[in-house]
Amino acid sequence: MRVTFVPDPEADDALERAELLLTLRKRGIRDPLLMRAFEQVPRERFVDPACRSLAWVDQALPISCGQTISQPAVVALMTEALDLKPSHSVLEIGTGSGYHAAILGQIAERVVTLERFRTLAQAAAERLRRLGYTNIEVVVADGSAGYAPRAPYDRIIITAAVNEVPPALFDQLRQGGVLVAPVGPPQDTQMLTRFALTADGIVKREMVPVRFVPLLKGVAQVL
Ligand code: SAH
Repeated sequence: MRVTFVPDPEADDALERAELLLTLRKRGIRDPLLMRAFEQVPRERFVDPACRSLAWVDQALPISCGQTISQPAVVALMTEALDLKPSHSVLEIGTGSGYHAAILGQIAERVVTLERFRTLAQAAAERLRRLGYTNIEVVVADGSAGYAPRAPYDRIIITAAVNEVPPALFDQLRQGGVLVAPVGPPQDTQMLTRFALTADGIVKREMVPVRFVPLLKGVAQVL
């Protein structure tokens, strides 16, 4: 279910929210469905309580397990590159806080999101459930293998750095589908890259340099 939140215009973060939306516009984000999703998803509910005052600032913030909630402008850029339609089924690798999954869930029909830390996955699932997202499924799994039970997907997004896209993910992408990922060395900057699966093969387009935490192997043994 897509969710409608009515932010209180008197709330003390109303100005910051409006400023963030303006920042996204200035950065060239035009898709009205995407702008609406940013208006609707309460980012303050996804950040660590200690960072609440920074929830609507355009920056990445730390979350538990040494991970990060991505910068809103990067979430916007990646989502716009997906060309997401309301009929789409989406796979996200790297649930983290669940924020990007919520943005995807505002637009798409169904979202499956995979996370290797059980703690993060459980917290994100609980948060999304409380906010009313019934179309987002959080699964504890190593995202490198994708998630075959719901494949194929119209869109796949990796929100952790990869040296190369795990081949299993292309196998789970529908013909005509799009995959977006930060590709490059995990300890350095990566290139946000868009892959379109066409009848003639994979068409690759490099976008902008970004910095993500690495995609790690296996499900975490602790936490
Ligand atoms: N999309 C998130 C931010 C992602 S941070 C948000 O909106 O908050 C990257 C996440 O990928 C981290 O939570 C990390 O634990 C997870 N991750 C890293 N390697 C993974 C793997 N192999 N499978 C699943 N998740 C992984």
